[in-house]
Amino acid sequence: MAKWLKKSPVSSPPPAKKVKMTEEERRAADRAYELEKRSRHFIPDWKNGRSWLYYDEAKKMMYCLACIRFPEQVTTNNIMVRGCSIMKKQSITQHEKLTGHEFALRAWSRTQVSTF
Ligand SMILES: [Zn+2]
Repeated sequence: MAKWLKKSPVSSPPPAKKVKMTEEERRAADRAYELEKRSRHFIPDWKNGRSWLYYDEAKKMMYCLACIRFPEQVTTNNIMVRGCSIMKKQSITQHEKLTGHEFALRAWSRTQVSTF
């Protein structure tokens, strides 16, 4: 089991059921849920509009190239510098709200040739 799964305090609520499922259906749903939950992985679409987002396939970690390059205002809770293994879009959107990231992104984008 991945480290983050143990640490995560959030467990998803069971899906709302209108029709009572049979034991077999319930087990199949559980299996599907486990499969979906455990196969959480990086979605390439997350990079859309985020040229700073880098995914290390070998390490299975996400990084922020801007914060790594311009760490002047990067805070200790900036997980994208050390590498984020929590493959959730929320990990990225939370990172985007950090003041240190905004600063780094402004500095970093000046070094980039826009492809948009
Ligand atoms: Zn950043």
